[in-house]
Amino acid sequence: MNPEQELRAVAEEVAVCQDCRLHLSRKLAVPGEGPAQADLMFIGEGPGFHENEQGRPFVGAAGRFLEELLGSIDFSREQVFIGNVVKCRPPSNRDPEPEEVSACSKYLERQIAAINPKVIVTLGRFSMARYFPNAKISKIHGRPKVMDGRLIVPMYHPAAALHQPSLRSEVEADFARLPELIQQETQAGAATTAEDPDPEQLSLF
Ligand code: URA
Ligand code: SF4
Repeated sequence: MNPEQELRAVAEEVAVCQDCRLHLSRKLAVPGEGPAQADLMFIGEGPGFHENEQGRPFVGAAGRFLEELLGSIDFSREQVFIGNVVKCRPPSNRDPEPEEVSACSKYLERQIAAINPKVIVTLGRFSMARYFPNAKISKIHGRPKVMDGRLIVPMYHPAAALHQPSLRSEVEADFARLPELIQQETQAGAATTAEDPDPEQLSLF
């Protein structure tokens, strides 16, 4: 399966998934969306009211803020993949339970494997916990680490920043550093490829 087909397969499975109790209250599952070739992937928490109605990620107030943040670094939402830790809305927007996160993680893992993004930005505590299990977001936001050959950048959730104006400037500053991080990762990837021996050349010796 090529990456596009794999993303489509994940979306089809998610749409009818009953692997945790969140399927009981969802209207539409929200698999996530964006190009299979995206260099940049965002992982939020889970669908809210509007996402559950529309089956699309980040389409409410937090989504508008995310689009604004993307615009501030000359990106559009169509250029990046936007997904979530759980694909179905927790009732009343409660936190997802550990069993729900763990039941749903197989889909996120397949999406990450298919897209193979250079940079993953985690939005909020639940996606951060995948990569930084005991970290405090107030301590580590905006500080990337390399994992599985890509950069993981933890950030505050845009919804938190909307509710707490003091976090807004933190998120804006963390976003402002993203282009540089993406460029570093892209160049690092290109350098590795350039140094790889050319098989045609090798066969001459
Ligand atoms: N918040 C999230 O974490 N994900 C969404 O898709 C929307 C709001
Ligand atoms: Fe399945 Fe994930 Fe929805 Fe639970 S949240 S029903 S695991 S798609």
